[in-house]
Amino acid sequence: MKALVYVGERQLEVRDVPEPKGEFLVRILGCAICGTDLKTLLHGHPYFKPPTILGHEFYGVVDKAPAGSGYAPGDCVVVAPYGECGVCDECRQGNGESCKNKEYVGDGAFCEKVSVPLSFVSRGVFPIPGPDKAFALVEPLACVLDGVEQMEVTERDKALVIGGGPMGALIAFTLKDRGIDVQVAELNELRRDCLNGWGIPAAPLEQYNMKEFTRIFVAVNKKELVEQAIHSVHNGGRVHVFAGLPSGTVLNVDAHDLHYRKVAVMGSSGYRLDHFRMAYEAVRNNPDHYRRLITHTFPLDKGQEAFDFLKDGRAFKIVIEP
Ligand SMILES: [Zn+2]
Ligand SMILES: [Zn+2]
Repeated sequence: MKALVYVGERQLEVRDVPEPKGEFLVRILGCAICGTDLKTLLHGHPYFKPPTILGHEFYGVVDKAPAGSGYAPGDCVVVAPYGECGVCDECRQGNGESCKNKEYVGDGAFCEKVSVPLSFVSRGVFPIPGPDKAFALVEPLACVLDGVEQMEVTERDKALVIGGGPMGALIAFTLKDRGIDVQVAELNELRRDCLNGWGIPAAPLEQYNMKEFTRIFVAVNKKELVEQAIHSVHNGGRVHVFAGLPSGTVLNVDAHDLHYRKVAVMGSSGYRLDHFRMAYEAVRNNPDHYRRLITHTFPLDKGQEAFDFLKDGRAFKIVIEP
C-alpha cells in the first residue's frame, strides 16, 4: 500500500509499504495533520523516530472485520488512535491520559490502511453516518475537552485563548457553544478573519488586557506567554498550558501570584476514551460546525506540500486523503 513516510528531518516520502496484518482493518479515508505531526517533521520527536508513518486523526471504512466484532466491511468509522487500559493505578485515579498500558492502533494513518487490535474495537471504534471529513476532528476535540474539563469554566468566567490555530479554535468553539464569553489572541490575520467570521472575536494579543480574563488557555508553545498569563490573569484565575513546551523548560513564576492572587496553573495532553466519546458525539451532532475548520484537503502524494502549507500558516486544518 501507499504510505507517506517520515524519513528524516523535514523529509517525507511516498513509499510502497506492506499492508498491515490483522483481523480488523480500516481503510483510511482521511487523516488530518496535527500540530504534533508538523513539530515532529520539523524538529523530531522522542517517541516518533524515522522512518515511520505519522498521522493519528483519522476516519475511514472497515475493510476487514470478523463476525461478532459489531462491524462489517463497508461501515464508516472513526477510530481513537489509542486508549487507556481502565484498570491500572493511573486509570483508577482518573488519570487515564497517563496510563502505562495504553493500547495503540497500528502505525500512523498517513497511508491506506491501519490495523486495530481486536481487543480495542469495542472501546475505540465508533460508527459514523458516512464518509465525512469532520470526523478527522474527533481526536483533537477530545484533547480539547480534556483540557477544558480541568479548567472548570463556568458562565461567570471570561476566557482568553492565546493562539488561534486549530486547537485554539476548537477550545474557543467548545467554550462558545457552552455560552461562555471567549476571545482569541492570534497574530495571523487570515486566522483572525476566519475566527471573526465564525463569531469568535479575535485580535492581536497586544489588544487584550489579560487582567480581565479569569481563564487563559495558552495554545502556543511560548514559555514567555505562559509566564505572562500567570502574572496577568485575573485574581483567582486559572492558566492552562495547552501547547507542549520542551521537557526541561523552566517557568519563571512569582510565588505571589500563586499565594496571594490564588492563580492556578494546569496543563494537559492527550485524552481519555470518555473524552473521545464526547468529542465523537459532538461532531456527530453538528458536523457542519466542525467541518469549517478543515480549510484544505490534499492527496497523499502531495503530503509534503500539505505540511509546507500548514507550516506557512496558510491553513487551519488540513486533511490528507489517500
Ligand atoms: Zn492530534
Ligand atoms: Zn491504565
